[in-house]
Amino acid sequence: ELAAWQRPLRAQFPIIAAHPDLAYLDSAATSQKPRPVLDAVQTYLTTTNANAGRGSYPWANTTTALVENTRVRVKQFLGDPDPERSSVHFTSGTTAGLRMIALDWLPAFLADGDEIVVPHADHQANLSPWLEAAELLARQGVRVHVRQLPYQAGSGDYDPQALAALVGPRTRFVAATHVHHVYGVDMNVHRLRQVVGPEVPICLDAAQSVGHLPVSVAQLDVDFVVFSGHKTMALPGSGAVWARGRHGPVLRPGGWSGTPNTVGVAGLAAALDWLTAAGTDRIERWTVALTSLLTDGLARMDAYEVLGCRTSLRADTEVQRRRSLVTFRHREIGSQDLGFILFSRGFMVRSDGHCQAGRDAEDGSVRVSLHVHNTPEEIEELLTTLASLQ
Ligand code: PMP
Repeated sequence: ELAAWQRPLRAQFPIIAAHPDLAYLDSAATSQKPRPVLDAVQTYLTTTNANAGRGSYPWANTTTALVENTRVRVKQFLGDPDPERSSVHFTSGTTAGLRMIALDWLPAFLADGDEIVVPHADHQANLSPWLEAAELLARQGVRVHVRQLPYQAGSGDYDPQALAALVGPRTRFVAATHVHHVYGVDMNVHRLRQVVGPEVPICLDAAQSVGHLPVSVAQLDVDFVVFSGHKTMALPGSGAVWARGRHGPVLRPGGWSGTPNTVGVAGLAAALDWLTAAGTDRIERWTVALTSLLTDGLARMDAYEVLGCRTSLRADTEVQRRRSLVTFRHREIGSQDLGFILFSRGFMVRSDGHCQAGRDAEDGSVRVSLHVHNTPEEIEELLTTLASLQ
């Protein structure tokens, strides 16, 4: 049933259709774009391209409406229960979104002696902005203690005991990741919320989850969600920050005084529509099944070591599964060499480091990351190739 649903979706990616001998296994780095997104961008540029927020002619008004309507689309896509109060800001991607929260919003929220909890070995984009914010405040005489949340060996999730020990009465803010870009499991955001209590804002780097699974801000009970357009079937240079209403304005004053990336917004709107029509729940089931196939296949080969959780299920709970990516190493072949060998057989994977921050950053490895266009045949062929390299 899922296979019949997936086939026509795969056919909508022109770049995939044009290269039947290649398997694109690097969607965590950036996603391919389905035809309706490409069409929406072209239609926008050839029919109503204008600046937004000003002008008294139809193209300008249409562009303004596009930007405003896409804010609403983002809220709907994230299951926002209170769209009247929340806000959506368009950014150039996750890195810029996290920096915006860290440098524009967070400093005014913190006082001398406050503590923030941030990830220790997640994407670099989700560490350096928080450290920079603390440095900025320190120069103003406000000392903020940055507590770094470590991983639990073997699960790929944050260490629950360390988390409980790090959080205290002065904890004012938590930055976390939804799906880790190396370990591939979804972090236990519910546990984070339970430990920090209802008041402390939680900011979620959702770069690897939005578009891959239903992301509901109501269920997750988080305060900020940040994601990249280029990883969600839209264009590079687009992305969004969703902010819960209780935090008030997040952007620096200025509003419409800058030109927004209207082309990026047009692409993002089309991408969210496409993902909604495809069904993020089905995309999740499809990619989780493919990733399980790969993880279970790798577990049967001694030559490979899977990073984070070794199985397709996370160690500490049966319900949280490995998401759409697996990172592994060959015990003898270096990751760059393995990447070249795999490309010579038609597989495009990410190799080497993965912009992971901190002391626990993993050395070179190969990451296979999937999206809705990938197929069980691609995974079977990849496993056959990996087996032949043992
Ligand atoms: N966070 C995570 C978890 C990521 O995977 C990435 C992209 N690799 C980023 C942040 C940065 O995203 P961008 O390059 O789109 O700013």
